[in-house]
Amino acid sequence: MVQGTDALYTWSLTDLARGLKDGEFSSRELTESLLRRIDDHQQRLNAFITVTADAALQRADAADKARANGDESLLNGLPIVYKDLFCTKGVLTTCGSRILANFVSPYDATVVERISAAGAVMLGKTNMDEFAMGSSNETSYYGPVTNPWNKKLSPGGSSGGSAAAVAARIVPAATGTDTGGSIRQPAALTGTVGLKPTYGRVSRFGMVAFASSLDQAGVITRSAEDAALLLGVMAGYDKRDSTSVDHPVPDYVAGLSKPVKGLKIGIVRQHFDEGLAAGCEERVKAALAVLKEEGATLIEVDLPNIDLSVPTYYVVAPAECSSNLSRFDGVRFGHRADNPENLLDLYCRTRSEGFGAEVQRRIMTGTYVLSAGYYDAYYLKAQKVRQLISQDFKKAFENVDVIAGPTAPTTAFAIGEKTDDPITMYLNDIYTIGANLAGLPGISVPCGFADGLPVGLQLVGPHFAEETILACAHQYQQLTDWHAQGPEEFS
Ligand code: GLN
Repeated sequence: MVQGTDALYTWSLTDLARGLKDGEFSSRELTESLLRRIDDHQQRLNAFITVTADAALQRADAADKARANGDESLLNGLPIVYKDLFCTKGVLTTCGSRILANFVSPYDATVVERISAAGAVMLGKTNMDEFAMGSSNETSYYGPVTNPWNKKLSPGGSSGGSAAAVAARIVPAATGTDTGGSIRQPAALTGTVGLKPTYGRVSRFGMVAFASSLDQAGVITRSAEDAALLLGVMAGYDKRDSTSVDHPVPDYVAGLSKPVKGLKIGIVRQHFDEGLAAGCEERVKAALAVLKEEGATLIEVDLPNIDLSVPTYYVVAPAECSSNLSRFDGVRFGHRADNPENLLDLYCRTRSEGFGAEVQRRIMTGTYVLSAGYYDAYYLKAQKVRQLISQDFKKAFENVDVIAGPTAPTTAFAIGEKTDDPITMYLNDIYTIGANLAGLPGISVPCGFADGLPVGLQLVGPHFAEETILACAHQYQQLTDWHAQGPEEFS
């Protein structure tokens, strides 16, 4: 290996791309070193459900060969890992669940297809809350992921494996999905960057569905620049996803140079109430002061119905999940109960054995709110409130370019601390869920530490304003170095 490249795991995706291009190291060298890193830390972190070492090395060799033949594909030879709900052809796709513990996907998700076509090398599939239902990674059938900053703490969820792997400098970038905060919240709790694009910006084809009107694929990286690079590859219309939007994909990396000066930043009055930990509030306010100093204008905005976002979400998301998860019946794929007595017994035992407690709770809630007699009172009402929340954002964006505030109410919490109290767990997403209900893009960037643990600043933009939030995040990262500070244990 060329001198100076022995700590490739600390490099950003952008730097690795440059290094590969300049021939400083090969994709095989890079891939081998990261696979070693996965091996060294899997026991501590439990960030992976599957590691595809052999296939990765083959892909790396192919990438090196292609490069030698003049291939300059954007991600050629660069590493990537996928949250284990992106279907990957010929590779286990468990969704963190026992019910899919034996499911090998016959096709690739569009996200996987696009990232592969750009030349990336998949190293493995990351651990996650079962069916992406959770905020702590504790609902995974494969056991919890631990936070790289402290092994007693949760990395957040549901994309906890992806966030932990990126925070621990194991991989520079990972995919995730965000239905109510599952990219942004773990990013905040691990000191990484988490980008959830506009609903419809990235294809959902081949993602195991949780709540289809809210689910969106995105990325977890260590810089906004890397997030921009990956989003450019993933985004764009896909005819296999009927909610994918045919909207031009800008050059997100080129857009990063847009200055903060003149940007109108909305501060939501309701975001700084008693639910926010003092240490987080202090760090978020300091970050806003940095942006103000740089020439942004801070404007107070009102989201009068935002308090209703958590209850609204916990009607809409379970309703959609109860419908989406009805396909897991032990007949077509996945786990099947042994020796069923009849069809009903097969369904009941398969689903009781295959789904964990949180998933069963959601299916029951969802079935209830959709049932005749309760539909109007719960589901229909929730849909109406969802509209109101969307309108509140729309109104706020008449006066501001982005909305900034905390990503999560606290820093990382202990594993086991909130498992007995679903409501407290659900409140983790109080600042993130609004963007999902309204379909808006959001990003979380590290903005400092409270009691030695990372704090996230969230930026939310209008529909398809990924460029604006990425540029603001990138400019902030030019002025601060919080994102460059990793956990000592993994340095
Ligand atoms: N924590 C939220 C939930 O459990 C959000 C999950 C997600 O975004 N996938 O539903």
